[in-house]
Amino acid sequence: MKILKQLGFIPPYLWSTQFRLSHQLSYVQWSRKLEALKGNDEECSACIPQGKFLLYSGQRPLLEPFVDHEDHTMADSLSSRAQMLTNAPIYEPQLQQIAWLSYPEVREVCLAIFVGNVLLHMTPSGQPIYAVQVGKLSKEDRTALKSLRPDAAIQDLRVALFVVPRAQSELLSRARSLLHFHEQNLYCGACGTKTKCNAAGSYRYCETCKASIYPSSKPVGIVLVTDERNSKALLVRQPRHPPGMFTCIAGFADIGETLEACVKREVAEEAGLEVTAVRYLGCQHWPFPGSLMMGCIATALTHEVSLDTSELQDGRWWSRAEVEAAVTASAANGSPWSLTASAAGGSPWSLTSSAAGGSPWFSSEPKTAALLLPPPMTIAHCLIRHWLETTSESSS
Ligand SMILES: [Zn+2]
Repeated sequence: MKILKQLGFIPPYLWSTQFRLSHQLSYVQWSRKLEALKGNDEECSACIPQGKFLLYSGQRPLLEPFVDHEDHTMADSLSSRAQMLTNAPIYEPQLQQIAWLSYPEVREVCLAIFVGNVLLHMTPSGQPIYAVQVGKLSKEDRTALKSLRPDAAIQDLRVALFVVPRAQSELLSRARSLLHFHEQNLYCGACGTKTKCNAAGSYRYCETCKASIYPSSKPVGIVLVTDERNSKALLVRQPRHPPGMFTCIAGFADIGETLEACVKREVAEEAGLEVTAVRYLGCQHWPFPGSLMMGCIATALTHEVSLDTSELQDGRWWSRAEVEAAVTASAANGSPWSLTASAAGGSPWSLTSSAAGGSPWFSSEPKTAALLLPPPMTIAHCLIRHWLETTSESSS
């Protein structure tokens, strides 16, 4: 990508390790500045030395132990879906944080292994944030990185998303999807020519047939189905879910299908139920491979569950009391994860059980009788909490 060329042309006097902030931008100023950066190759390239960099090695980001993060104000400019759906305090993971690298650090560590970068976001004061893909790290690369950031480690993304503060989790998700888009669109789908990307990495283009290729999200409907009395909720599980965990029904929207039709079809296909009164509540991005999870609630017209066992391992109605107990248990866990360095090679980090409550979401323990819900920051969990907070069980 263009960074290979840009690295050679930016004079060292422009490399700043500290971005000095003069003022906070208004949201409109912020949006327009970010849009201008995406659309102007020259301006975007000129800003690279002032940027901060999130490093990805393949599908795995570089994290370090949580100290303090300065990104909480960024949540305002990202989708704060959880806060939108519930009045209760949202669990804020503070186990790890993104190991931000400055431009000189990126040059020092990654010059030989740079394979691509994308403009990811911008801080409220206008500092550009980039994600940089360094590919597979050699032993020498790892040594160089270790000398620069002794406490940092390349982390599995499925774990990383749940151990960093929520605003950073959204950045990790966005970065992985954008980098994946570039990896998947190296050639033009119309004429087969090798494509190029703009400086910001916000789109790719074909110089032969003039086609432009933009990244897009895949729409997914996720729905909490309840009965008419709000006395029970339908929760299901797939074989790949952690033992004991049940969640909402979800599926990709077909081409030409509305969100409401998608949700209705998925519930019919997977649980054999017909639903009505589908209401959209909020959404969440999920980077596997780049889904926009659109959260809904719906009311069942029929009650006899008939599972599609080719997709689901289990699924049933849970009483309101059982769901309430599961939400309370999630909150009581507080920080249910702990990270420790593994002694052996391979993945430098592994999840282990914390003293209180274990690590239910990543546990390989046998299934327990109690209902386990998805982690508190997921859209499924927020839908469930929203239902409990905004409805009450009716007698008729
Ligand atoms: Zn083409």
